[in-house]
Amino acid sequence: MEREVKNRTKDLKELLEKQRLYLDQIEKSSRFKTEFLATMSHELRTPLNAIIGFTDLLIEGVFGELNKEQSEYINDIDDSSNHLLDMITRILDISKIESGQATLKIEEIQLNNLIDQVISTLKPLYIEKDIKWELVGLKKAQFIFADRIKFKQIIYNLLSNAIKFTKKGKIIFEFKENKYDWEFAIKDTGIGISENDFDIIFKDFKRVKSEYVEAAQGIGLGLALTKRLVNLQGGDISFSSKLKKGTTFTFNLPKTIKEKLANLSKIESFLNKL
Ligand code: ADP
Repeated sequence: MEREVKNRTKDLKELLEKQRLYLDQIEKSSRFKTEFLATMSHELRTPLNAIIGFTDLLIEGVFGELNKEQSEYINDIDDSSNHLLDMITRILDISKIESGQATLKIEEIQLNNLIDQVISTLKPLYIEKDIKWELVGLKKAQFIFADRIKFKQIIYNLLSNAIKFTKKGKIIFEFKENKYDWEFAIKDTGIGISENDFDIIFKDFKRVKSEYVEAAQGIGLGLALTKRLVNLQGGDISFSSKLKKGTTFTFNLPKTIKEKLANLSKIESFLNKL
């Protein structure tokens, strides 16, 4: 009996050691992947930014006026470079979250200002469309707590999709303050999503196979990243949709995020006093 216990303990120790080595390897390779992607993305982004910068100068006519054909080609170069830059940035963002290297900087956010800012940056996307905006449930000065950059990215991705996939109609941003969380809904009256495609919507590099979607810019990483950004802050995201009628994306952020911030600053001030 004693020998059996000893043998079992030895087996268990060996198994634990094997598992530790295995986890070590996974961690190392995940760190390698993130570092590799970070370096690669820096190396790719630097020349790409130069291409975009010089292309913009050419488009603005700084080096002289362009003829119709030149202008067409230079705009194609600009579109493709921006597309590539967007893709590299998103892949890097996703890999940072996946490897646990993304950090949160929680702060107080004036929601009204942030929404106005995002809607105005999106103006080039909707200016030529017959789209009306409606903001629902916002107090005059509505405050929430979240990571500002990540929250802005979530709102930007959802609103830009709503614009992209709506020919004309209405986009509604709805806010609700519940006891334990803040709830956000982005509703559009666009092309909608067929139930057959519901499964792919949050998957990496997946887009609905339709003429309208294929003609719209995108690589199918926006929602994959958005979901990770919401989950990272302790929230959830879901959607409901009806083909040809419209789509609603809803996400929430728990208010405990504010308590975490308060606890952190308590710990910080305690440490400062030591
Ligand atoms: P992208 O916008 O780059 O195509 P996303 O990851 O943001 O990728 O979205 C994935 C797919 O989900 C889109 O290609 C589209 O088919 C569908 N989709 C997203 N938002 C909407 C929306 N508001 N209305 C209809 N379809 C949408």
